[in-house]
Amino acid sequence: MNLILLGPPGVGKGTQSKLISKRLAIPQISTGDLLREAVRQKTKLGLEAKLYMERGELVRDGIVVGLIERRIQDPDCTKGFVLDGFPRNVEQADALATMLRGAGRRIDTAVCIEAAEDLLVRRIAGRRVCSSCGSEFHVEFRPSAKGKLCERCGAELVQRKDDREDVVKERLRVYRESTQPLARYYEERGLLRRVKGEGTIEEIERLIARALEEAAQPPPGRS
Ligand code: AMP
Repeated sequence: MNLILLGPPGVGKGTQSKLISKRLAIPQISTGDLLREAVRQKTKLGLEAKLYMERGELVRDGIVVGLIERRIQDPDCTKGFVLDGFPRNVEQADALATMLRGAGRRIDTAVCIEAAEDLLVRRIAGRRVCSSCGSEFHVEFRPSAKGKLCERCGAELVQRKDDREDVVKERLRVYRESTQPLARYYEERGLLRRVKGEGTIEEIERLIARALEEAAQPPPGRS
């Protein structure tokens, strides 16, 4: 199954796409993670991407489309994949459709997770990651048992630069302007399922599972 998870920053796409990946045994592909890895490795692509990421702006389409094109050709993607953070605008969605068509594949469902903006800012601005092992915590919703240190490895917990409140507001603005129109894009193609993303992780997981089951049912009259 080839899936897309859409939704604003902080809505839980990362968490939910990892859960879907486990349940359906298909890889989760996050362009944010791929880009952060390129930044860590200081590749040419990573150095260019860093400038945009720190400002909360979108990285050039050519870069992310290239990353996805290579990744979905990996053998672990033959049974499907769940995309997290890609596509982010209509141009990327068109590029994705074209590359999949070329391989005789297509998107099955796009799930859009929705939540109020004040909750999103609270969720993102409280996020902390371990500077050593990358484990994720939240000062309010998932505090580390060791306070400002990672409860797994003891290293310092830090805030991602793009999780600072001013950058978060820019990321939300970019989302409204460039990414939100994608819900319409997939709706017009009969592929969109909307899910409310304001409950617990388990509640949202159940709503997504139900939405995917419904999407897999044949339309009435064709069973
Ligand atoms: P994320 O972890 O998905 O919120 O992504 C973090 C940052 O990486 C974003 O704010 C963008 O700067 C960049 N990024 C991730 N995915 C994309 C994409 N599909 N297109 C452009 N930029 C992206």
